[in-house]
Amino acid sequence: MYDVVALGELLIDFTPAGLSSNQCFLFEQNPGGAPANVLSVLSKFNKATGFIGKLGNDQFGHFLKGVLDDINVSTEGIVFDDEVRTTLAFVHLDENGDRKFSFYRNPGADMMLKEEEINLEMIKNSKVFHFGSLSMTHEPARSATLKALKYAKEKDLLVSYDPNYRPLLWKSIEEAKQQIKEGLRYADILKVSEEELELITGIDDMKKATEFLYKGYDIPFITVTLGDKGSYFRKADDEGYVSPYKVKAIDTTGAGDGFLGALLYQILESGKVIKELEISELENMLRFSNATGALITMKRGAIPAIPTLEEVYDFIKTQGNH
Ligand code: ATP
Repeated sequence: MYDVVALGELLIDFTPAGLSSNQCFLFEQNPGGAPANVLSVLSKFNKATGFIGKLGNDQFGHFLKGVLDDINVSTEGIVFDDEVRTTLAFVHLDENGDRKFSFYRNPGADMMLKEEEINLEMIKNSKVFHFGSLSMTHEPARSATLKALKYAKEKDLLVSYDPNYRPLLWKSIEEAKQQIKEGLRYADILKVSEEELELITGIDDMKKATEFLYKGYDIPFITVTLGDKGSYFRKADDEGYVSPYKVKAIDTTGAGDGFLGALLYQILESGKVIKELEISELENMLRFSNATGALITMKRGAIPAIPTLEEVYDFIKTQGNH
């Protein structure tokens, strides 16, 4: 049995690592991919997790599988492909220190997962199914994602969705919006940033935009991550805001994934369906999620920065409730 199974991209993020002795740029090979980050958090919090996706049958692909094996995320849903290479992304820092990405994904293995390659048994044996929109940028992974979603709904899983909009990976913004909205039709839990919320709804007001999504797409729980401003949620006509923890952030990579992994952990632990959760319970859950996200920003990288459950509880205890 699994608690959470996720489908999506697993790739290498080459992050800047200074200069060599002969002044050449150095890059550090880091695992990347939002769905796998979410699973890694849940796995570190002792939940049973499994990943479904495609990797190239190359050094990078086998390195990534090893990373998930090491953190106890089941890799039985990974398909290795001889014909395509593992997706790579290089991160560059511009003159202001902002991150710029170059993706090597033309195609990349993650886009090439086929419907018939999905391990449906894993989905059938899980409580939650999680996905993003990167697996919907191109065929055949788009159809594979939709097949997995339909199956998850048929089997009554709770479906969690983090669109994670990456403009460079879409042919056009119109196509991105259309596909991201298609995903909304399946979501029970939606996690978006403020920018994504405005992109999807065209509404520049968080309350109105989340109300529009809950009414238009019948999404039971929507949460908006606000970086160092904390987080917001809407459950039907109820809403709430949870203030952030003050930390010295050095790298925000994976904070959103950590936030969502922590939220799914809390929902699973509660043993309740979303409808049954009181507003005060949801506020406590978001507080725990804010703490997990904040702790992740205090260390470099996504997976290496994930705290243990004890570290999150200690942090909340020392910082106090907000
Ligand atoms: P991504 O798009 O990279 O997946 P995101 O935009 O969804 O991430 P963030 O809003 O950056 O995610 O972070 C998620 C949560 O982590 C926030 O809602 C907040 O609770 C916490 N967090 C992030 N950055 C900070 C920060 N600088 N200080 C305190 N808390 C932070």
